[in-house]
Amino acid sequence: MTVAKSLFELQEVDLELDKHAKALAQIDAQLKGSKALTLAKAELAKRQKQLQELQAQQKTGELDAADAKERVTTVESRMMGNQVSPRELPALQKEVTNLKGRQKGLEEQVVGVMERVEQAKKSLDVQAAIVKSEEANWAEHKKRLAQEKRLVSGEVPGVQAQHDEFSAEVTDQAKALYQSIRIKKGGVAVSKVQGGICSGCRITLPTTLVQRARAGKELVYCGNCGRILYVP
Ligand SMILES: [Zn+2]
Repeated sequence: MTVAKSLFELQEVDLELDKHAKALAQIDAQLKGSKALTLAKAELAKRQKQLQELQAQQKTGELDAADAKERVTTVESRMMGNQVSPRELPALQKEVTNLKGRQKGLEEQVVGVMERVEQAKKSLDVQAAIVKSEEANWAEHKKRLAQEKRLVSGEVPGVQAQHDEFSAEVTDQAKALYQSIRIKKGGVAVSKVQGGICSGCRITLPTTLVQRARAGKELVYCGNCGRILYVP
């Protein structure tokens, strides 16, 4: 077997290992969490806050309305008592009218806020259901990812053993050369020659170069992309 062929075979296994490593990295990245679930939870928190704010607003409105009502009662009981002179009456009556108007306004506001509280509760329920469904989706997806991970991880030792076998057939010098080109050339150091064309860069190679590569007495490189040429 020529060195180019040995290196090509080693590369096939290396690419396979690369593929496995990439797949595992992608699985691990996905296992970090569900974006959809995170977004759904953030929206739920937002709606919870909105509901709390509206409930606080309702409470304040109710207290203010109760306060106005109490003041109406106070002024009215003063008017009905004997301590008030007829001169004071018109001013007190005006105050009662004002307070009653304020009370009515506040009560109407409270009714409005209560409607919004009901809407906010419904909207919260809808979002809570979305979160629940996203949680179920995520649990299912996580299970599938774990299965996939087991599958891919399970294949690695076999490919690694094959890699070690092929690697043992190549000299350290050739391996070092192969590795340095592989790093520079996107993982592909050895380029198969097909129909006189370098499959690494698609350039048509000079016939003499292809002949030298086929003979396999030395390593021959593509003049364009610098990869080791392998003629099957
Ligand atoms: Zn090339």
